[in-house]
Amino acid sequence: MSVTNGKELAKEIKENVKKKVYENYISKNRDVPCLVCIIVGDDKASKVYVNSKKKACEECGIKSLVYQLPADTTKEFLLDFLNKLNADKTVSGILVQLPLPEKLDKDRDEIINTILPSKDVDCLTHENLGRLFAGVGTIAPCTATGIIKILEHEKFDIDGKDAVVIGRSLLVGKSVSSLLQSKNATVTNCHSHTKNLKEKCQNADILIVAVGKPKMIKKDFVKDGAFVIDVGINRTENGLVGDVDFESVKDKCSYITPVPGGVGPLTVACLMENTLLLHEKAKENTKCVNLE
Ligand code: NDP
Repeated sequence: MSVTNGKELAKEIKENVKKKVYENYISKNRDVPCLVCIIVGDDKASKVYVNSKKKACEECGIKSLVYQLPADTTKEFLLDFLNKLNADKTVSGILVQLPLPEKLDKDRDEIINTILPSKDVDCLTHENLGRLFAGVGTIAPCTATGIIKILEHEKFDIDGKDAVVIGRSLLVGKSVSSLLQSKNATVTNCHSHTKNLKEKCQNADILIVAVGKPKMIKKDFVKDGAFVIDVGINRTENGLVGDVDFESVKDKCSYITPVPGGVGPLTVACLMENTLLLHEKAKENTKCVNLE
């Protein structure tokens, strides 16, 4: 059994982004990519995630702006703020850290879809998701991209494999299901209404768990030699744990990602890649306009 070191792989990806930012922007005195993260309210986990994103930006030479807005921020204020960022040519990517406070959460779709698709760095607008599901997207949500990178890094042949994805959020489950399908896996996307979950998992060559329930996947869910990817991040009194019972599963599978240190660092590294990609696209479009 091999434990995938997400930190090492994330480091490689960030090094590559840093090199491109240096060669194409810093050394040529051109504007560097700029990522804006917005947190509304006081969610502690959100602050930790945004800090790690800010740190990664610093490592890669990407400019990072973090706006911490109060929990009683109104929808109107937030939409106006997002529209200003949309219009700001120095901003390459915009990310609204989820979850939003309860009062704003009912308007989450409207808020996320106010971000211009060309600046929607986590690929959560309906336009970008539609493009992803149609197989013509430029970017995908960072966690889903990170999961595919893990499989590819381990040179695991996805083509023709049976994959079970547990969880159907846009951010993770649905997006990674779509990416796996585009790479010719046969995907079963499970959720809280799925019947016979254990039996379905037992047939999976690739098992991806994105639920948010500590250690719910035990050894008897896992096919011998499967590739197990644990997306879950659960804060317990014993620290961070995943959705997979690592100790019970590790000797049954071929590959497993740990929590922490598996998918999490890849999510942040892929956010750096997406920011650079959107910046490059914006510059290309500006060039086209100038040529006309
Ligand atoms: P959501 O809460 O949006 O989705 C959870 C999914 O799990 C839903 O589709 C839900 O089904 C399904 N589910 C809940 N209970 C069960 C069950 N008993 N059996 C089968 N399916 C079930 O969560 P996210 O997708 O945003 O995140 C999932 C986990 O991944 C969380 O722990 C989160 O912290 C973590 N995460 C980690 C990231 C990383 O970088 N490592 C990034 C993003 C998330 P239904 O749709 O029917 O309600």
